[in-house]
Parts: sequence; structure tokens; C-alpha cells
Amino acid sequence: MPIKLLPPQLANQIAAGEVVERPASVVKELVENSIDAGSTQIEIDIEKGGHKRIKIRDNGQGIARDELELALSRHATSKIATLDDLEQILSLGFRGEALASISSVSRLTLTSKPAHQDQAWQAHCHGRDMAVKLNPVAHPDGTTIDAADLFYNTPARRKFLRTEKTEFQHIDDMVKRIALSHHTVGFVLRHNGKAVRKFVARSEHNKSKRIADVVGQKFLNNSTYLKTDYDGVKIEAWLGSLSEIRSSNDCQFSFVNGRGMRDKLILHALRQAYEMTWGIAEQPAFVVFLAVPARDVDVNVHPAKHEVRFQQARLVHDFIVQVVSQALGEDSPDKASKGG
Ligand code: ADP
Ligand code: MG
Repeated sequence: MPIKLLPPQLANQIAAGEVVERPASVVKELVENSIDAGSTQIEIDIEKGGHKRIKIRDNGQGIARDELELALSRHATSKIATLDDLEQILSLGFRGEALASISSVSRLTLTSKPAHQDQAWQAHCHGRDMAVKLNPVAHPDGTTIDAADLFYNTPARRKFLRTEKTEFQHIDDMVKRIALSHHTVGFVLRHNGKAVRKFVARSEHNKSKRIADVVGQKFLNNSTYLKTDYDGVKIEAWLGSLSEIRSSNDCQFSFVNGRGMRDKLILHALRQAYEMTWGIAEQPAFVVFLAVPARDVDVNVHPAKHEVRFQQARLVHDFIVQVVSQALGEDSPDKASKGG
């Protein structure tokens, strides 16, 4: 075959393969956009595990009418402009790919009203041929994105969707993760019209309240708290007691610069610290926030940003092992039996 440029929709669908793995990845991308837009309240409505519909409504800064179409195009972002920006990312998004990808594999409606615009506008794109239609509609300040019939036009991908229950479980997990790292934002998660999670916005200094909301008051009461820093690397952690040891890793939440991830380095360091101090080889429960200078970490490793690369990986690892084992060592492993 001769060499040809791919048509835009096909190029977007290929990119979508990397960004949109399942309904939970759509939720992640859209909620992160809402957070980047400065929203304080985010409502997530899911129908049939996200197979049928994923709808996110926020009260953020909105998208102006004449930028709606651009927002849906690939490589269009308001978050970075130069290579220098890429090297010190503060926003959750920056690739300009999520809306283009999601709109290429679903029937997407984007509705938005910035505070300065007196009318809200709505863009429809079904499977996204490049033409986007705009209509004036009623909508409060903020943005609603409705993605229906995920993968309806990519049957090979649709086959990989699991049951509604399993997909919703992944969504619930994702929402918990995001809620943990953004405690000043309120979240509501509904499934088939029924509220499943309601996390009220907590004040800046009330992070531990959100941890209790998400992981449980018992976890919080019995956990060992750690907050320290060294050479620009900061850690704040709630380390679960012996009673929180599990056979699975479903209560391990780690964040790097506010971004949730299953980072192998962090997991390894934590498990090593638990093993060294309390002799625990099973899965401990923890919530760990790590902050490193943006220049010392590369978040642009994976399209879905599941991973980061640390410039000083060994140092970060050893720092975590050291401070976590010290904190655990000063605390009693069985304090849960005394506590609640
Ligand atoms: P990225 O987040 O990497 O910039 P996206 O495709 O996710 O790329 O979004 C494209 C652009 O659309 C964003 O840069 C932002 O300007 C705008 N946008 C998307 N979602 C929202 C939202 N909920 N509120 C305000 N602006 C948004
Ligand atoms: Mg984004």
C-alpha cells in the first residue's frame, strides 16, 4: 500500500485506544478536566456501568462558544504552550487528547457556559466526523459533558467491556482516588439515578476528614500519621494499622503531585518499610501523598498518565522506606486492638 495520512477520525480512534481503556478512564479524564477548570462541585452520573452513559457536570470556568470546537480537536489544550511548560506541569491534563479521543468513540455532547458569556452553547458530535454543530441551550455557569454509547463505533473495543457491575466498580475506585487528592472539591457519584457516593467539599486544612469519608473513620483513627520533607521531596501519609492488612491491594492509594497512580516504586518502598518494621508481607493499607519538584518528575510517560518517572528514583525510594519505617517503628502495630 502507498503511504497515506490517516483521516482525523481514525487517527483519533487510534489515540483513543491508549487514553480510553474503559468507562473509568473516561471518568478520569473528564473529572480531571473539571478540576483543572477550577470546579468546586462535580457531579458524575453513570448509566449501566458507563456502557450506556457517562455524564459529568461541573461549576468550573467553562469553555467559550468559539473554543468549543477547538476543545474537541486533537492536540488542542489551554494548559501548556511551550516545552518549558511541559517540563513543569501543574495541571492534571496537558496532552490535549482526551476530548478528541472520547468524542471519536462515543456520542458526545459538550455544553458549557463561562461566567462572562450570557448564553450557554452546546456542541454535538456523534462519532466525530469533523463537523461540530452548535446550539444555544440553558445551562448554569460551568460545563457538562455527556458521553453516550462508548465504543459504539469500535466493536472490537466494545467486546472488551466487562459487566456493568465490574465497570462501575472501576469507576467508583477512580472517583475515590480523585476525591482523596482533591478534598476541597465536592463530588457526587450516581449510578442509574441512585446516589452511590457523596463527598462534601472539605476545607483546605481538613484533608483527614476526606480520608475518613473515602477510606473510613476506623482506618483514619488507627492509622499512623507521617508528614515530613527532605531536599524538596515532601511526604504526607496515613499508614494503616495491622487490622487493616488485607489480601488484596484495594486500599493502597498513592499520589505524586496530586496525581493518583499505582507507582511501583512507591508501592515497593511502602511494602519494604512494613516488612522491615512490622514483618508484614501481605498488603498494607495506606494513603500516601508525595510531592516532588515538577522539574524532577516526568509525567509524560504514559498516555493515561498512570506512571511517572523520577529523576532521582533511588533517592525517592530510599527516602520513603526510611521515613515510613521510622514512623511505623515509633508506633505500635496493634493499636487497632486498643482503638476502634
Ligand atoms: P487537556 O486536558 O490535556 O488540555 P482535553 O482534551 O482533556 O485536553 O481538553 C481540551 C481543552 O478543553 C482543555 O485544555 C480545556 O481548555 C478545555 N476543557 C475541557 N474540559 C473542560 C471543563 N470541564 N471545563 C473547562 N474547560 C474544559
Ligand atoms: Mg484533559
